[in-house]
Amino acid sequence: MSWYKMLLKMPQKLLRTAHYIELGSYQHWPVLIPQRIRLYTYEQIPLFLKENPYITDGYRAHLPSKLCLRSIFILSNETVNIWSHLLGFLLFFSLGVNDLSSVLPASGANREDYVIYTIGLFCFQVCMLCSVGYHLFACHRSEKTCRRWLSLDYAGISVGILGCYVPGIFYAFYCNAFWRQVYLLTVLSLILAVFCAQVHPRYLSNDWQRIRTAIFCCVAGISVIPACHWVWLNGGFTTAVVQLFLPRVLVMYLIAGSAFLFYVTKIPERYFPGQLNYLGASHQVWHVLVVVMFYWWHQTALNIMHFRHSQSCPAQTSSS
Ligand SMILES: [Zn+2]
Repeated sequence: MSWYKMLLKMPQKLLRTAHYIELGSYQHWPVLIPQRIRLYTYEQIPLFLKENPYITDGYRAHLPSKLCLRSIFILSNETVNIWSHLLGFLLFFSLGVNDLSSVLPASGANREDYVIYTIGLFCFQVCMLCSVGYHLFACHRSEKTCRRWLSLDYAGISVGILGCYVPGIFYAFYCNAFWRQVYLLTVLSLILAVFCAQVHPRYLSNDWQRIRTAIFCCVAGISVIPACHWVWLNGGFTTAVVQLFLPRVLVMYLIAGSAFLFYVTKIPERYFPGQLNYLGASHQVWHVLVVVMFYWWHQTALNIMHFRHSQSCPAQTSSS
C-alpha cells in the first residue's frame, strides 16, 4: 500500500478508534457515567458479562477500577461471591499462622513439613485472592481488564488444585521417595501446561468453554491414579492405614464432585430464574464448597502427618 493511501486511511482509523473509546463498544452504555454504583438487568449488561441468563438482575457494569473496588460494600449479585472467598482467604491465612506458630511445632514437625504446609496454604490463599479479584473487577468498563481478571481466576483455580496435590502426594507417598517425586513432578508439569494453555488467545473465548472445563476435570480427575496407587502400595482396602484415610479421600471427592456439578449445571437458579439473583445461586454454592474442600483437605493432611510421625515407614516400601 502506498504512503498517500495510508494517509487517507489514517483519519478514518483514528475516528473509528475515538468512537470505540467513547462508546466503549457497548450497546447499552449508560447515559451518565455513574457517580454512585447502579445495578443493571441481564438485558442491559455488555455481552461479555452475559454468562448466566438465570441471574436476571443485580449486575454491576461499566465501572472504573475505583468504583469496582468500592462496590465491595454494596449489595449486588456478586456480593456473596466476593465475600465468601475474602473470608476464605482470611481463614487460610489464619490457619497458616496457627499451623506455623503452634500446630506444627507441637507435633514435632521437621523442615519438610513446614515447607509442605506453607506451599499448600499459600496456594489456597492465592486461589481465594484471584477469585476475589475477578468477582470484584468483572464489572470493569473495559472488556480487556475483565478478561485479564478472568484468566487470573482460572490460574487461581489451578494453583488451588496444586495446593491440594502437594500435601496429598507428599504424605500419601511419605515412605516411597521415588513415587513421591514422580507424582509431584507430573502434577507440577500438568499445572504448568494448563498455565501455558491459558496464554492461548482463544482460551477464554466462549467456544472454548467446554475445553476449559475438560482441562480442569482432567487436572483434578487424574488424582484418581495416585489415589489407587496409594491403596495398592499399602496392601489394599483391608489395611489399617487405608481404612483410616480412604474415607477422608472419598469425602474429598464427594465435595469436589458436587462443587463441580453446581458450577457446571447452574442449579438451583435454572429452576428459579430471577429468584436467586442475590443469594443461593450455583456459583455461590461452588464458592462455599471450594472453601469447605480446601479446609477438609488441610485437616486431612494434618491427620496423615500425625499418623506418619507416630509410625515409622514399613521396611519393604521404604526407599527414602
Ligand atoms: Zn467464582
